Amino acid sequence: MKINTNFLNLKQSYLFATVGAKLTAYQKAHPEKKVIKLSIGDVTRPLAPAVIEAMHRAVEDMSRAETFKGYGPDATCYGYEPLIASIKASYARKGVSLGYDEIFISDGAKSDLANILDLFAAENTVLVPDPVYPVYVDTNVMAGRKIVYANANEQNGFLPMPEDIKEDAKDPDIIYICSPNNPTGAAYNREQLKVWVDYALKKDAVILYDAAYEYFVTDPALPRSIFEIEGARECAIEFCSYSKTAGFTGLRCGYTVVPNTLARGGVSLAKLWARRQSTKFNGVSYITQMGAAAVFSEEGEKQIAENIKYYRNNAKIIAECLDELGIWYTGGKHSPYIWLKCPKGMNSWEFFDYLLEKANVVGTPGSGFGANGEGFFRLTAFATEENTKEACRRIKELLA
Ligand code: PLP
Repeated sequence: MKINTNFLNLKQSYLFATVGAKLTAYQKAHPEKKVIKLSIGDVTRPLAPAVIEAMHRAVEDMSRAETFKGYGPDATCYGYEPLIASIKASYARKGVSLGYDEIFISDGAKSDLANILDLFAAENTVLVPDPVYPVYVDTNVMAGRKIVYANANEQNGFLPMPEDIKEDAKDPDIIYICSPNNPTGAAYNREQLKVWVDYALKKDAVILYDAAYEYFVTDPALPRSIFEIEGARECAIEFCSYSKTAGFTGLRCGYTVVPNTLARGGVSLAKLWARRQSTKFNGVSYITQMGAAAVFSEEGEKQIAENIKYYRNNAKIIAECLDELGIWYTGGKHSPYIWLKCPKGMNSWEFFDYLLEKANVVGTPGSGFGANGEGFFRLTAFATEENTKEACRRIKELLA
C-alpha cells in the first residue's frame, strides 16, 4: 500500500498558527492590554431574519409526512427548485441568463474549488496569482500538478494580467482568478477580465473564477460575474458562496456555475461535473437550501445588504485611516480586505510585531500568502465598528 506522496510536498502553513501563537504569547505577557483583531477572515454579523424564518418553515416541513424531504432531487444534482430559481433570477439581474442544468448547489465554495479538480488530468499546468488564497495551491499540490505563478504587485495594483505570468509559465491549462480578491481586495474591471477570457480561449485553458466576494462590489461598472464577459461561457467555471454574502460560514451553502457551452476534448464539463457530484456528493440539507433561497428574495437582499454595508463601512474606516497616513493599499472598496504596504520599509512579520506590541492590533502578514506578499499586510473589515474605529485610532497615533 502506498500513500499519496504528493501530500508530503505541501508546505506547512505556519501563517495563522504563528499569528495565533504570537497573539497568545503577547496576551499572556500583557493580560491588561486589550488586543483588537483585524485579522478575522470570518463573518461576525448574525444571519438575516428572512433566512432564519425560511429555515424555521423548512424545519416544520420536515416534521410532516406530506412535506418531509429525503435526498434532494436527482435531476438538478440535489438542488431544490426554489433555490436554483433564486440564483437564476439573481444572475438575470446581472444580465446573465443561466439554465437550471448549469447551476450546482454545494456546501460552499472551498469544497467545489477543490473537487472540481477531479475533472482535470494531473498533467495540466495550473496558473495562480502570487499572492494567493492558499486553497488553490494546496489542492493542486495534493493532486501532483505543476503550479506556475502570475506576479501581482504594486505596479499592476495586485491585478496580474497575462503579461505578468512568470517566464517559465506560458502555457497554463487551468487559470485561477479571484475577484474581488482575497487577500488583496483588488477587483478586476470588465476590460481586464476580457483580456483573461480571450487569453484562456486562445490557450484552450479553463478559468476557475472565484466570486466569493462579489456582493462587496459596489461600482456597477465592475463585473460581479465572469459570465458578464463575452466568451466566458466557453472557458470559465464560476464559484459562489453564501458565506460572505449572507453570513453562511457556519451554515454552509454555495453554488457553482458550469455553463453547458463549456467543453474540452469534445466533452461537456457540466456533464462531467454532474456525474462527479452524483457519485461523490449527496447534496446540501433541505433546511439550509431553503434558508439560502431566502437570501435573494426581495426582503433577504435588503437584509444582507445591511450586513454588507456594515462591513463595507468598517473597510472605509480603515481605508480613510490609511489615506490620512499616506500608506499605499489596495482593496477596501469592493472587498472586506485591505492590503497595505508596510510602512517604514518593514517586512510583513516586522510590521506584525510592531503593530501588536505598539498598538495592540493584529493583522495578517502578507508574506504568508506568497513571495510577492512580502512587505505587505492584510487587514479585514469583519470586526465590530467600535473595534475597527479604536484600532484605526491606535494605528494613526502610532504611525502619524
Ligand atoms: N474563496 C475565497 C477567496 C475565500 O476567501 C473563501 C473563504 O474565506 C472561500 C472561497 C471559501 O468559501 P466557503 O465558505 O463558501 O467555503
